[in-house]
Amino acid sequence: MTEQVTRATFDDVMVPNYTPSAIIPVRGEGSRIWDTNDNEYIDFAGGIAVTSVGHSHPKLVEVMREQAGKFWHVANVMTNEPALRLAKKLTEKTFADKVFFCNSGGEANEAAFKLVRRHSYLNFGPEKHEIIAFTKSFHGRTLFTVSVGGQSKYKEGFEPTPQGISHCDYNDIEQLKALISDRTCAVVMEPIQGEGGIIPADVEFAKQVRELCDQYNALLVYDEVQSGVGRTGTLYAYEQLGVTPDVLTTAKGFGNGFPVAAMLATDATAKSLGFGTHGSTYGGNPMACVIAEAVIDIVDTPEVLTGVKAKHELFVNGLKAINEKYSVFKDIRGMGLLIGAEVVDAYKDNAKAFLAAAVEEGLLVLVAGPDVVRLAPSLLIPDADIAEGLARFERAIAKVVANA
Ligand SMILES: *Cc1c(COP(=O)(O)O)cnc(C)c1O
Repeated sequence: MTEQVTRATFDDVMVPNYTPSAIIPVRGEGSRIWDTNDNEYIDFAGGIAVTSVGHSHPKLVEVMREQAGKFWHVANVMTNEPALRLAKKLTEKTFADKVFFCNSGGEANEAAFKLVRRHSYLNFGPEKHEIIAFTKSFHGRTLFTVSVGGQSKYKEGFEPTPQGISHCDYNDIEQLKALISDRTCAVVMEPIQGEGGIIPADVEFAKQVRELCDQYNALLVYDEVQSGVGRTGTLYAYEQLGVTPDVLTTAKGFGNGFPVAAMLATDATAKSLGFGTHGSTYGGNPMACVIAEAVIDIVDTPEVLTGVKAKHELFVNGLKAINEKYSVFKDIRGMGLLIGAEVVDAYKDNAKAFLAAAVEEGLLVLVAGPDVVRLAPSLLIPDADIAEGLARFERAIAKVVANA
């Protein structure tokens, strides 16, 4: 028997680490979602840059059903064909030679940070263990990943945290020069900061980070959990920076909502995670891998990737046109379909007012920090849904401005 549940049930039975919105979605199709009251929403949020090919994509439903009728899990005492096919595909399409599968972005980063530590330990000794990351960066919620992440609020009350980590301002090469040393084992960066407010790396900065890493025998880790899988208009964002990392993590859009993630690495670094050094019970299970393989097949085509760039223009031009009327944004930026609109000072710390108003107009958007409205829709969002969503957003903005 199914029990009656409502939003109020959340407060009764869930750990209060989230405060979900009042609406409870029950089905989705492409870039539209319907809730328990059959209200319809246009989805510019993509489940926080996750539903890269939209809701209920028929190909994903098909491969998932097919695999569900075969087998779900054997653990890593055996390998499986979907995992092997997916790993092969990733190595063919990226810089990487080797792949480690896990279930979330935080886990992929945890694997990456353990790998760089161990690589330095084996090759240079225990002194070379320092990790440099960037302020405002976000790398996940495990103890190691909140420590490498550049937002101290996520560490508060969880100390003592892992040590040997320092933070540098993003896009500030002089600061990095001052911090990096022979004790540095790795530099960790997002090619475009997501949670930190949709801040792209300067190409010149990214290149100099790579050079500094080479100079100090430090590994370069790219956290592409949010920017990967076509989100920025190339399969991975590093391709556009002209910089090749040693290690890269991918999750979010990789599984379109099914929990699957991967750490990609070069041969030279991957060999430092030898037999028994790391693992994951679910990592690389066949269900996850057939889905991720289908996602990659759908996304990594010239049509979809060029489409991402074209849709970027539709969004940015639409937002600019709205802003000409209402002057609520001081900057509209981003790459591909990861777009940020920073609110003017009158709405400082209150980007979420636009999110709340949008929901009332039947539109889902996100924030990235207190001052930035973030859009991260499906890479396949139809142009008509972009137009209709922007019209709804304009009505939402008009209301926020009228009530200010
Ligand atoms: C979301 C995110 C993570 C964490 O991923 P989870 O799947 O929530 O563990 C890590 N890094 C970046 C850049 C992210 O955007």
